[in-house]
Amino acid sequence: MASNKPVRGIEVECRGMTKYGRSPWLDTVSKARVSAYPRQRGAQQTSVVIVGGGLTGCATAYAFAASGVNVVLLEAGQLGRGSTGAATGWVGGDPGPAFVDVEKALGRTAAKQVFQLWRRAALDCAALIRRLDIKCGLAPRGTAIVATTPEQAVRLKRDQKARRDAGLDAPLLTARVVKNELGLDAAAAIRENAGAVLDPYRACLGLAGAAADRGATIFEASAVRQIKFGRRKADVITAGGSIRANRVIVATGLPTPLFKSLARHFWFRTAYLAMTERVPARIRQQLGHRAAVVRDLAAPPHVVRWVGDEYLLVAGADALSPPARQRDRIVVQRTGQLMYELSTLYPDISGILPEYGWEAPYARTSDGLPYIGPHRNFPHHLFAFGDSSHGVAGAYAASRMLLRHHLEELEPADRHFSFTRHGG
Ligand SMILES: Cc1cc2nc3c(=O)[nH]c(=O)nc-3n(C[C@H](O)[C@H](O)[C@H](O)COP(=O)(O)OP(=O)(O)OC[C@H]3O[C@@H](n4cnc5c(N)ncnc54)[C@H](O)[C@@H]3O)c2cc1C
Repeated sequence: MASNKPVRGIEVECRGMTKYGRSPWLDTVSKARVSAYPRQRGAQQTSVVIVGGGLTGCATAYAFAASGVNVVLLEAGQLGRGSTGAATGWVGGDPGPAFVDVEKALGRTAAKQVFQLWRRAALDCAALIRRLDIKCGLAPRGTAIVATTPEQAVRLKRDQKARRDAGLDAPLLTARVVKNELGLDAAAAIRENAGAVLDPYRACLGLAGAAADRGATIFEASAVRQIKFGRRKADVITAGGSIRANRVIVATGLPTPLFKSLARHFWFRTAYLAMTERVPARIRQQLGHRAAVVRDLAAPPHVVRWVGDEYLLVAGADALSPPARQRDRIVVQRTGQLMYELSTLYPDISGILPEYGWEAPYARTSDGLPYIGPHRNFPHHLFAFGDSSHGVAGAYAASRMLLRHHLEELEPADRHFSFTRHGG
């Protein structure tokens, strides 16, 4: 426990006590890596204002700036310290809900397009981060969607068959292969190869830096207080000034009080995450190759990944967001619960303590897919709300879709993420 072992190039200080309420990404970044951006002041004009400097906002600022669009990003606090700084850092090739559920909601062709878009986003996201040379511990990692109970195995096989019937590649792993490769006792698994892992906070800062290099203007400590819109333009008001724009992109993850009327589309939930102390080499050897991110079919699901090959991170235990006064107590309780649930997946880690326990609020939609695009009540706006995939690919997928909306170059799959996809 008392080691200062580097995790993917960053120092983790181990004090023998669990650190609650903060993620290792935020806790371990050195100040020298965090650029400070100024506050917005005065009256300005631009083509596009992005509200929110998490992964979605920063990836979108990069996409727009790289396409030659004048863009200003406004972040209320510091970049990447919202749900991005609390995320798992998993670039998953799946949008979250089971294929059969998306097929039931939208039909087979649409479901196939959604899954293909997400897989491509996972591959392109990793390729972009590599090309921009963003130092965020990016490493390719497939995903294994595992069934740990007979009931889950029935659902997994049904989902795998539906994917194959739709023409999607979805290899099924037997219990033996799962045991060898992942050290898990599971009935079966679907293998997905498009993914990767990274530090989501550093990825976000890197994308912001790349966007700024290409001409995006970034402001921190510049909360948007009001957005007024007329027939042709929108005015985005901050404490220090205002920006007149042709387009406003709202990338706040979930509808904030600025968009109260959209809250009815969402359930406000909180996921919990825990990362272990360093797992001793002797135990790591018993846990297979550790070569994939594991997602199970429990309700709510768990996502388990290795960080730096020596620390296990588990996310899950999602529930409706608790009142603020209960949050601290619930984080402690859920960290214990997650550690117990992790030990049921990997009995060999019993006795290993959590190094970190934290939470990630998010908004969930009825079908589990995010809303990305316009809403008829808000002219000049585009939204990206409600990614419950637990993976980074959604932020990247949103950035590309938002750019296609802006350029009026939509792809067939994009309409499956609209607010009106169920005819509403
Ligand atoms: C358990 C769990 C794990 C997840 N893991 C991942 C993952 O690994 N990678 C991933 O990409 N996604 C993950 N997600 C999804 C994640 O919630 C988001 O998709 C992702 O982090 C993108 O964040 P964002 O930019 O949309 O939102 P955020 O990171 O929350 O950014 C929104 C920003 O908007 C700012 N803001 C809010 N109001 C205003 C205002 N009025 N004016 C200006 N700024 C404002 C906030 O300060 C904040 O910085 C996970 C979700 C869960 C529940």
